[in-house]
Amino acid sequence: MYKGVAAAPGIAIGKVFMIGQTELQLRKYKVADAQLEKEMTRLDLAVTATSQEIEAIKQKVAKEVGPKEAAIFNAYLHILEDPLLITATKDWIKKEHCNAEYALQETTRQLVQQFMESSDEYMRERAADISDVTSRFMRHLTGQTAGPLSEIDEEVVVVAHDLTPSQTASMPRDKIIGFVTDVGGRTSHVAIMARSLEIPAVVGLQDISQHVVNGDMMVIDGIAGEVVVNPDAKILAKYRQAQQKYVQANRKLKKMKGVTAVTKDGYRLTVAANLELPEEIRQAQKYGAEGVGLFRTEFLYLNRPELPSEEEQFEAYRMVAQQSLPYAAIVRTLDIGGDKFLSPLNTSKEMNPFLGLRAIRLCLSHVDLFKVQLRAILRASHFGKIKLMFPMISGIEELRSAKAVLDEARAELTHKRISYDKNMEIGIMIELPSAAVTADILAKEVDFFSIGTNDLIQYTLAADRVNEKVAYLYNPLHPAILRLIKGVLEAAHHERIWVGMCGEMASDPLMTPLLIGLGLDEFSTVPAFVPQLKQCIRSLNFAESKDLAEKVMACTTTRDVEDIMEKHGGHACLDQKN
Ligand code: PEP
Ligand code: MG
Repeated sequence: MYKGVAAAPGIAIGKVFMIGQTELQLRKYKVADAQLEKEMTRLDLAVTATSQEIEAIKQKVAKEVGPKEAAIFNAYLHILEDPLLITATKDWIKKEHCNAEYALQETTRQLVQQFMESSDEYMRERAADISDVTSRFMRHLTGQTAGPLSEIDEEVVVVAHDLTPSQTASMPRDKIIGFVTDVGGRTSHVAIMARSLEIPAVVGLQDISQHVVNGDMMVIDGIAGEVVVNPDAKILAKYRQAQQKYVQANRKLKKMKGVTAVTKDGYRLTVAANLELPEEIRQAQKYGAEGVGLFRTEFLYLNRPELPSEEEQFEAYRMVAQQSLPYAAIVRTLDIGGDKFLSPLNTSKEMNPFLGLRAIRLCLSHVDLFKVQLRAILRASHFGKIKLMFPMISGIEELRSAKAVLDEARAELTHKRISYDKNMEIGIMIELPSAAVTADILAKEVDFFSIGTNDLIQYTLAADRVNEKVAYLYNPLHPAILRLIKGVLEAAHHERIWVGMCGEMASDPLMTPLLIGLGLDEFSTVPAFVPQLKQCIRSLNFAESKDLAEKVMACTTTRDVEDIMEKHGGHACLDQKN
């Protein structure tokens, strides 16, 4: 039994499918003379990183298994230093004026073929070593990890050290019944994705990927955050029973589709859905979401060699807007960077991507790309109730810059006599401490706020949201976070604008009474959580929630807050009947 972070509820029982090797869709692009040196440097840096990785594995094997077994890694290191690989790749870059990963792919292909065709068996065996080394090398070069996803042809639980958002997005969904990763926390994108796909997941298991092999039987308990490998019949029977119980309870919740989110004393709230892909709007409807509180549009851009056209985006936004009616759909502009990258953009690797050219920053530095999206959103606004939202806004100047580009996009459409909603609400995510602290200023120039706690917590507490080693610091109940949320709500309400929350804190029933008591207007969560959130709200009392919030805000330590929440938080609501 392994214990990790419960990332997506439900119980999955199935065979393990390991994902670890590189399988990337690589694109060739032209590199100007002046940039060739940069490609060489990227290659050299990736060589260094790969040798360090192999050296570390060698040491580990030497210590845990023995020096003889570790010797194979010397051969790996030799391959990395071999001019047949490195010099040939560099020559290829120069000759073809192409990117390093494409050149590496081509050189590897030729090299592996040469070895495979050898009459010497020893040489033929080396072909596999070359593939192994170069796939690690490629991973360092592209900064991605991926696996042989195309091989999946039966229902499996996927086990990986890490999964990138683009990997999870490209998996054959009908085949994956569970996710397990070594790294990550509740708000890493694999966890969010798993919740929206309704696939049980446990993350942050440290090194489980080193303890299982393809074909092992695995139980994933996404509620308790536990994983059992090759369970005996008795344990298996226990989990099968729990699985059945969960499915039945979930079925009951789905029946709550039509009910409103109103507290016992008549205080009405909105429960909307977070979408990552346009198709998820159907799930949102199925679970009775009152519109879309966050459409993460970046997923339209992932896993493809070219950027989505204005037309394609327009169709996606229009579909979501129309299907959301009579409710609104909040479309968030591109949030790329952090842990999500676009291959066509070819942005340089950053030391601190979460603090780098991410989201609105990237859009403001690629105005043409930004305008394509803005025009698509504006055009779609004619067909439903779209609200537009900018992510990662750090302050008023950045907001004004984003609005200026929006005005240009509007002017272009007006000039072409293309219709759009002239009264479309404009809002921003409050996910940077600087935005939370200046919420009173920002509130004067937008129609709504949506609090993005996933980032707000990581930036406020300086605790990487995807790093399980600092997960103990990543706590929504830290008084600093609660003060920021309270301040944002007060500033917004002072300016008579409404506030939603689309970060994961909004999905946790334990938090519901506190958030209601602080004055939150809208909750937005993955579609499958909508019914339980409504059920929770319906079991609460607004007046009592306000008292709870007052008590909590008087606390000086996280521990004190947690004690109060344990006693009076909303977790009990899920067991109650409405
Ligand atoms: C957030 O930061 O809380 C949020 C909803 O945005 P994302 O998870 O997409 O960064
Ligand atoms: Mg965010």
